[in-house]
Amino acid sequence: MKLAEKRNIIIVIIISLMIAINPLYSQKGASSKSKKSQKDKKKTEKVQEKKKDTEVKEEKKTDEVQETKKSTVVREKKKAGAIKSKQSPGATNILEPDDDSMSGTLEWKVVLKDDNGNVNLPERYRTWWYIRMDGVNTNTPTRLNIEGDGFAGKSIVLPVYSYDRINWHRFKPENIVSNTGAEGLYNYTIEHIYDSSSTVWVARYYPYSVSKLDNFLKTLEKNPFVKIEKIGESNYGRPINMVSITDPKVDDKTKKRIWVHSRTHPSETGSSFAVEGLIRYLTGKSCEGCKDVDLSKLIFNIVPMINPDGVALGNARVTPDSSYDLERMWLRGENDFDLKNDIPPEISAIHQAITNLNKKGPEFIIALNLHSKNAPPNWRHFLYSNFKEENKEYGESGDSLFKKQLSFARLLSNYYCMDTIRVRRSEEAGRPMDKKLFPEVWWWLNFKDKVMAATLETTSGIDGCFEEWVTFKDQEYLGEAIAKASYQYYKYYVSGEYFKYERPVENMEELMKFYLR
Ligand SMILES: [Zn+2]
Repeated sequence: MKLAEKRNIIIVIIISLMIAINPLYSQKGASSKSKKSQKDKKKTEKVQEKKKDTEVKEEKKTDEVQETKKSTVVREKKKAGAIKSKQSPGATNILEPDDDSMSGTLEWKVVLKDDNGNVNLPERYRTWWYIRMDGVNTNTPTRLNIEGDGFAGKSIVLPVYSYDRINWHRFKPENIVSNTGAEGLYNYTIEHIYDSSSTVWVARYYPYSVSKLDNFLKTLEKNPFVKIEKIGESNYGRPINMVSITDPKVDDKTKKRIWVHSRTHPSETGSSFAVEGLIRYLTGKSCEGCKDVDLSKLIFNIVPMINPDGVALGNARVTPDSSYDLERMWLRGENDFDLKNDIPPEISAIHQAITNLNKKGPEFIIALNLHSKNAPPNWRHFLYSNFKEENKEYGESGDSLFKKQLSFARLLSNYYCMDTIRVRRSEEAGRPMDKKLFPEVWWWLNFKDKVMAATLETTSGIDGCFEEWVTFKDQEYLGEAIAKASYQYYKYYVSGEYFKYERPVENMEELMKFYLR
C-alpha cells in the first residue's frame, strides 16, 4: 500500500487549533445585503499571527483567528527545505506543504493536549479539535492520525469535514482505519481521498464559533419579537448576550418565563445548534412560523453562549483560567440564592440576569441548561435529572419536580421522534444533590418544583428514529422541539395536570424503564 511509503513529511498539529472566523453554514435567513457585508468584513479582516508564547490575555476581544500555546502548528521536515507559512482568514499559522510534498499520500497528526496546557485537568476533557489542512492531494488517500482523544466510550464519534465550512460531511465508519484506546484516551486514523479541494477543514464535531453566533444574532436585531441585551462580559471581555423573545404587544405580567442557557463547555457545539434552532423557530418571519408556540403567553430568555472565551480559544471544557469548569461553579454565598463574590464573571452574569428577571416577574417555569454529551455515540439526546423516584429525602416537591422533568422529556420526544429523549439519573455519587454546584441545583434550592430545571444533553452521535448520525440540522430541529415542548409544558403548568395526555403508564417503575438507559 502506498501509505507504507511515508513521505518524509510529518506534520504535527498540536491541538486545538482555533478557527474563529467562521462563515459557517449557509446564512439562510440572512439577507443578501448582510451576506455582502459579511464578505466585505472578511476582506478587511486581517488574521493576526501571534507568537507561540502569546499570552491569552492579549487575545482579549479579538474575534479573529487566535493561536495559543496549545494551538501551535508545527511542521517538521527531515530534509532541509523551505517551509512556507501561509496566513489566511480562518486559520492562523497553517503551514503549507511545499511543492514536492504535494504528490503522494500525506500523513497528518493531531495530538490533543489539555485545555490551556494544564496537565492537571482530567484527560477525558480532551474532546475538541478543529483543523485546516492545506495542500491535500486529491488523488491519493490522506491520513489523519488523531492522538490522545478523550472519548468516554469505546466507539469514537465520526468526525466531520468540509471544503468550504458551509457544507459539512461525516466520515464513514470505513474511513476509520485504526482505532486503539487505553485508559480513556483514543488514537485513531482517518483515511480519506478528498475529492474537490486541496484545502480541507476537519473537526471532531460540527464547529460553532463565537463569530457564527455573532453573525446569527445580527440577523435578529430588527425582529420586533426579539431583544438582545449584553448581560455581562467574560473574563477576557467578550460580551455575554441574552436574547429575549416574546410578543411585545402583550403585557409581560400575564406571561411565564422560560430560561435557557448554553455552551458552558466549548466543545459541546450541539448545544449551540439547538439554541440556534430554538431561536430561529421562535423568530421565523416575526413568529408566523412558530404557530405551535404562543408568544403572547411566554417569554424566552436565552443566553446562547456563556463561555465565549473557552470557545474562542478552542478549549474543550474550561475557560482560559483552566480551573473553571463553569458548570460546577455555582458556589452559594451567605444564602442559597446569592452566590459568592469571587465566582467567575460568566456565572455572575447569568445569575444576575436571572435575579433581575425574577424580581421583575413574571415567574420562571422552565430552566434548561444545554450541553452535548461526551458519551458513546449510541446515546441519544437525553434530559439529565438529579432526581429519582426513591429520593425520599427531597420530599414531595422533589418527587413532583422529577415527574415534571419526565413530563418535559416526554413532551420533547413527541416532537423529536419517539425514544430520542431519555432521563438519566445523576451519576455523580458521594455528594448529596443539594450540595452540588450545578445551575439546576441552584434552581432547585430556590424554586423547588416551581421551575422545571434540568440539563439537556444533545448527542453528537447516532440520532433520530433511523439510527443515523446526527447532523447540525437535526440539532437545530431539537431546538424547535424545545420551543414546542415548552409551550405544551406551559399549558400543563397552568392547568396543573402534567401527565394528562402524555404519561405512558401510571407506574413509576415502568416510567423509569421507559426513560432511563
Ligand atoms: Zn457539558
